[in-house]
Amino acid sequence: MQRIADEALKYAKPFLSQGHTAGYIPELSKVDPNRLGLYIASNDGQCYKSGDFDTKFTLQSISKTVSLMLAVMDRGQDYVFNKVGMEPTGDAFNSIIKLETVKLHKPLNPMINAGAIAIDSLISGNTPEDKFRHLAGFYRKVFNNEQLNYNKEVYLSEKATGFRNRALANFMKDAGVLEGDVDEVVDLYFKQCSFEVDCKDIAFLGALLANDGISPSTGKEIVPKKVSRLVKTFMVTCGMYDASGEFAVKVGLPSKSGVGGGIVAVVPGTMGIGVFGPALDDKGNSVGGIKILEYLSEKLGLSIF
Ligand code: GLU
Repeated sequence: MQRIADEALKYAKPFLSQGHTAGYIPELSKVDPNRLGLYIASNDGQCYKSGDFDTKFTLQSISKTVSLMLAVMDRGQDYVFNKVGMEPTGDAFNSIIKLETVKLHKPLNPMINAGAIAIDSLISGNTPEDKFRHLAGFYRKVFNNEQLNYNKEVYLSEKATGFRNRALANFMKDAGVLEGDVDEVVDLYFKQCSFEVDCKDIAFLGALLANDGISPSTGKEIVPKKVSRLVKTFMVTCGMYDASGEFAVKVGLPSKSGVGGGIVAVVPGTMGIGVFGPALDDKGNSVGGIKILEYLSEKLGLSIF
């Protein structure tokens, strides 16, 4: 397995020149695009790592999976899906167009920015500080990392430039979808996107989902099985933005990417895989990360289909 992990990294490296770091968030454009790493955490406690597996990066859209689980645990599935749909969009992650054209103006799913912002308006807490504490506490459990915190520079960079996310939130407020104060909700979203992790942290999230919400290291239930199943389903249908269909064909694993360059992949019942490579393709997915996952899926026969 260690040999295959190293081979996957070697196979993926030459593709990095095809990608670019996320330029629309100034702080992310400063990251070295040649970084590439992976961490595999198996549910029986084995781990395999290669390359820049301990380089820190920000969660970005990977956070959408975690906040979705928390909102469903806080409010129940019916309440949450009254506000957000369950269908893939075929549009870019930050697209605004369908919000206006679909009836009810509900975001189509919780993995696009509009859906994730609507989800954040459902997180429990009386004040913004309470909500952040509640959310961060859950993230720390899910990533098995008590030190987890957000990167201030990236957070401020998103806050200073996130006009489109504010537009999505304002539209949803006007349409009666978004609960609470627009600025406070968007601020929580910017913070969750800026949580700083490494490949091990996201591999642990993958392993937790692979193990139906029970921590492979402590045996404790962190997420109910039903919620874990729900989020894995969204990862298959919408986890890789508008490239989810092609990714399902080529890799075949529930996965979620973020513009920070991370991808978490779940091998149900077996392991979690965390990859990081900040050079992104046109859809916003890590070029090297996808190549690593294609290699592992092919060599190890991992597709769930
Ligand atoms: N913070 C990013 C944004 O809102 C997250 C996008 C992503 O990772 O897809 O644009």
